[in-house]
Amino acid sequence: MRKIVIAGNWKMNKTVAESVTLASEVVAAASGIRNVVVAIAPTYLALAKVADVLAGSNVKLAAQDVHWENQGAFTGKVSADMLKEIGVDYVIIGHSEQRTYFGETDETVNRKVRKVQSLGMTPIICIGETLAERREGRLESVLTTQVNGAYAGLSGDDALRTVIAYEPVWAIGTGVTATDDEAQQAHAFVRGLLAGLYGEDVAQSISIQYGGSMKPENAAGLLAQKDIDGGLIGGAALKADSFLGIVAPGEALSK
Ligand code: PEP
Repeated sequence: MRKIVIAGNWKMNKTVAESVTLASEVVAAASGIRNVVVAIAPTYLALAKVADVLAGSNVKLAAQDVHWENQGAFTGKVSADMLKEIGVDYVIIGHSEQRTYFGETDETVNRKVRKVQSLGMTPIICIGETLAERREGRLESVLTTQVNGAYAGLSGDDALRTVIAYEPVWAIGTGVTATDDEAQQAHAFVRGLLAGLYGEDVAQSISIQYGGSMKPENAAGLLAQKDIDGGLIGGAALKADSFLGIVAPGEALSK
């Protein structure tokens, strides 16, 4: 059975003090959630203090990125060991903002995935097409390249310890959401790619989140789709009530 995983990506929002406050609100609001894995990804600076807030709760700690090397001359970067020490469970890798603004490639995504997994953390691997790519009919080739790149060298067992976030770039932070059908079709295609790489059993066990302007108003419809197993949430994760407004239908629909 696949887990529904709903993660809040706070991006470059919230000071440390604000992060602690929001994390406390999420912990209180999510205390009754049993069927959904709930995670929050604050800024690196707030991870340690938020880890204290999450201790003993059912909310998992996520980081927004990582470097693939253990240590060294990589100014501004954070290693997987550093995240592990703080108690991070999930690491978002290959977010479209990383790909667009900071030179993330499928190769660096793959390196980060392997590093994170080697320390027992779970990567949330972000993939998705731009509007131009979709309009040019390149949706499937883009997703194929991204999935093949991210999973290069990973065994079936490794693949089982991953989460994918399908995030159409044109829907991220724009208020425009993929329709339920558009999202389901892309998710089914991605699951088919995983089946091609690892077989149907593994493919059916990997959670594939949807991301892109997901909010309480559209969450139930998206989460009800056969191949959508949660969400990666940006803007709507910045308030506990709207974030939990997405978690609640996931809990109710739990597959
Ligand atoms: C994201 O950043 O991964 C995201 C989905 O953002 P938003 O929900 O704001 O579109």
